[in-house]
Amino acid sequence: MNNPMSLTLAIVVGSLTLWLIVGPVIFRTIERREFNKGYCTECGKKLRCFAQDSSGALGWCCDNCQSVIWISWLDTEKELVKTDENGNIC
Ligand SMILES: [Zn+2]
Repeated sequence: MNNPMSLTLAIVVGSLTLWLIVGPVIFRTIERREFNKGYCTECGKKLRCFAQDSSGALGWCCDNCQSVIWISWLDTEKELVKTDENGNIC
């Protein structure tokens, strides 16, 4: 590892690997906060799944205040509160 090139390569590969592990965890944490177990963070009403884009991201909207969020990392099935009598599964 005295070669500057291989050191640079090691740093690049190392940080890339770290990012691949840490990245999704960070994204999920952010989306978990936004998704708020399926309830609008603005008004507290239940969110409705209205769309899925080609990458598999789910669009959720609030019919009460029209706020929209897109969830692509979070497993919304697991995050939804269990007492969903409407079967609001996308
Ligand atoms: Zn709302």
